[in-house]
Amino acid sequence: MRADRLTGFYDKRKETMSAAARRRYQSAWLGELIEHAWERAPGVRRRLQAAGLDAAAVRDSDALARLPVLKKSQMPDLQQADPPFGGFCTVPTGRLRRIFISPGPIFEPMGPEVAAWHDESGFYAGGFRPGDVVMVTFSYHLVPAGLELDESLQVMGCVVVPTGVGNTETQIQVARTVGATGFVGTPSFLMTLLKRAEELKQAPLPFEVARVGAEALPESMRRVFEEQYGIITRQGFGTADIGNVAYECAEKSGMHLVEDAIVQVCDPQTGEPLPTGQIGELVATVNNRTYPMIRFGTGDLTVITDEPCPCGRTAPRMLGWRGRADEVTKVRGMFIHPRQADEVVARGAGVARYQVVVGRDGHQDTLTLRVELGAGGEAGAVRPVLEAAIRDVMKLRGEVDVVAAGTIPDGAKKIDDQRRWD
Ligand SMILES: [Zn+2]
Repeated sequence: MRADRLTGFYDKRKETMSAAARRRYQSAWLGELIEHAWERAPGVRRRLQAAGLDAAAVRDSDALARLPVLKKSQMPDLQQADPPFGGFCTVPTGRLRRIFISPGPIFEPMGPEVAAWHDESGFYAGGFRPGDVVMVTFSYHLVPAGLELDESLQVMGCVVVPTGVGNTETQIQVARTVGATGFVGTPSFLMTLLKRAEELKQAPLPFEVARVGAEALPESMRRVFEEQYGIITRQGFGTADIGNVAYECAEKSGMHLVEDAIVQVCDPQTGEPLPTGQIGELVATVNNRTYPMIRFGTGDLTVITDEPCPCGRTAPRMLGWRGRADEVTKVRGMFIHPRQADEVVARGAGVARYQVVVGRDGHQDTLTLRVELGAGGEAGAVRPVLEAAIRDVMKLRGEVDVVAAGTIPDGAKKIDDQRRWD
């Protein structure tokens, strides 16, 4: 009989706690973490001191906001100045289990404690169950993904087959021989395995559940996995520096934030936390005693919602990845991103080309969506739809300007900021 993969919790008490209980839980670990880091991680102490803070001052999200964001792009220089970890590691090198090296280069320590990647709840919510035999097809060398996810799976009771990257036909053979019910890796590699197995005209692969990541998962591709192959497919969000911070549940409507990360969505320029619902940079503080990343700016843009989720988990959800922070433009105090322009245009029919133009009228920013219509596009019909979509997606008022075909040049930027400040 197939396991029930769509209901239940890995840690019900934690995953369903009230907002007030979550704040208490997070403030308790944050206080301990900051004291611990102040004593043992000179890099953390230097940052706090530079901001005029001492360890006792940082107990909650508001106090954290007084600490400038540590940008991922600063890490290679900070680590070079104080190798190997920039003073951010609390454990002597000889007591670590592993040292990973991500592009940059950025060095990341894996400490003596188990399950510091915080992905057990995520695997469970994504349909993995104790006893699943899981092929982990992420890389097992240099970068942390393979080994860290491997550990999370083992902690939650799965059997791991560490197949690593590549070797499509061997992986197919292995999946059948061991009866692998779970897959972990990129969505494109899962697709490669499924298609190749079909070409070989063998029985279908035994996968029932997949956790995919490291690249985008288009909904059309998810439908193929789920409807055509019967594989429950979910995603998580994390980086090599901070581990996993969010995961999808059965509802597939955003990623619940883990209780052991304090996530703030911040103004990419000032680092100030933004109100819920606005797009901004994902800044995380994670409960990892070996490598306490505090106010770490990932450079990734997202939006968070605190609307209740029917699954029963109470953690807010991040609504997908919305691009990189260095691609945003600020209009009337709101950040807009090329991917939001894509989202707006997807709601209107018959648009062939488009470009957002940001301008200035007196002391006011203006936002205009220029569109060229293709077959089936009708100006009178498309204009109100797109104007409503701009309000909905970008939280701004904007005009739609239907222009003649050929007006928007080839290779034009999706957001053309024409404001001049001098
Ligand atoms: Zn949910």
